[in-house]
Amino acid sequence: MKCTACNMGKYQTKKVPYIFLGQNIGVFEALVCNHCGETLFESGASDKIEAEVKRQGLWGLRARSKISEVGNGLDVRIPKSLAQFLSLKKGQEVILEPVDKNRLQIVID
Ligand SMILES: [Zn+2]
Repeated sequence: MKCTACNMGKYQTKKVPYIFLGQNIGVFEALVCNHCGETLFESGASDKIEAEVKRQGLWGLRARSKISEVGNGLDVRIPKSLAQFLSLKKGQEVILEPVDKNRLQIVID
């Protein structure tokens, strides 16, 4: 089968590590292009990956949050599951870094 990304290479079945949120979820079977490296996990692997991501408590960490007003500034509420994943503690200092007009990055010091 020809690669759908580069249209030059061919897919080979390989065992590939799956990284999610910087965590190694495990090694799964995938089709990897021998030219550009495009990687497609097969549906059987996708089910296993999803199950493992959920087992490790990494599922659904992306969350909506509302800005509230506190004193002269604004507060962003960080859901407990996300705070646990990041090992954030009350009173901990972080760096707020605007990426552009739509994105704010919080860097843990
Ligand atoms: Zn390719």
